Amino acid sequence: MAEPVYSHLDTQPIAEGLGFGIRTTSLRDLRDYFQLHRDEISLTGDVPEFLEAQCHVCQQRQSLEIQGHEGEVNWRETLRCPGCGLINRWRSSVHLFEAICEPSRSSSIYLTEAITPLFTVIKQRYPKTTGSEYLEGQQPGAEMQVQGRRIRHEDVTRLSFTSGSFDAVLSYDVLEHVPDYRKALAEFFRVLKPGGTLLWSAPFTFEERTEIRASLQPDGSIVHHLPPDYHGDPFTGQGVLCFQSFGFDILQVMEQIGFESPRVCCFSNLAAGYLDRNILFIAQKPDTRSPLRRMLGNWFSR
Ligand SMILES: [Zn+2]
Repeated sequence: MAEPVYSHLDTQPIAEGLGFGIRTTSLRDLRDYFQLHRDEISLTGDVPEFLEAQCHVCQQRQSLEIQGHEGEVNWRETLRCPGCGLINRWRSSVHLFEAICEPSRSSSIYLTEAITPLFTVIKQRYPKTTGSEYLEGQQPGAEMQVQGRRIRHEDVTRLSFTSGSFDAVLSYDVLEHVPDYRKALAEFFRVLKPGGTLLWSAPFTFEERTEIRASLQPDGSIVHHLPPDYHGDPFTGQGVLCFQSFGFDILQVMEQIGFESPRVCCFSNLAAGYLDRNILFIAQKPDTRSPLRRMLGNWFSR
């Protein structure tokens, strides 16, 4: 398939050799990308029960299970691989993280989840991964026995980690539930090492502006600006309120916090089982160290 000439100078491939997707600061280029790849966004006609695709995590062809194939399919949340157990958005997040960051076994990673199959896969591949969940009423950094495992509690707006702890921070479908998402992004910035990468996802408006669906008042009450939208919580099984859907203006917010080159990655790939208009936000903490310290730091962290 011929790639179009994108209008924006900042539009580039997501990563060298990945073979699909762009990273961009242009809404127009994002729309062009998904228009060009519209055949990969969903399967039309009779949706089968399985899709044969190459699983990046298992490194082999797998029959990905399609849930809801008889009705409406939420493509991001299905296409579960029988080998690794990961759905579309989890498999693709591992794939993009590895293609972009080229992490090693000794990379230190913070993942804002700890009881999901995604955490299990990341921890297995990168042993220096710390995961956390939001456990109501706990002290930040405290661990609790949950479902037979020790789970760490963190509030993403006041993390207990020391500054400059991680090579990468990964946060998938969490920030839409955090009213003070700016504070959370600032905390992600703080705990990253210089040159470290933040990769995150959340519901996206495909527009310029972030849409505030609900806001938290100083007295703790919630004001709804749009009909309440609840997402399933794997931890409690209950619904969690979605406070906002993000727009392109989130790139400016990330820049104000200090991040370098914030971009939206957009991608779809039928051969790997990544259907839907998939979005990931990416940005780096600037590396202000001297060239020598940078070299030594990179060498010691291997
Ligand atoms: Zn797999």
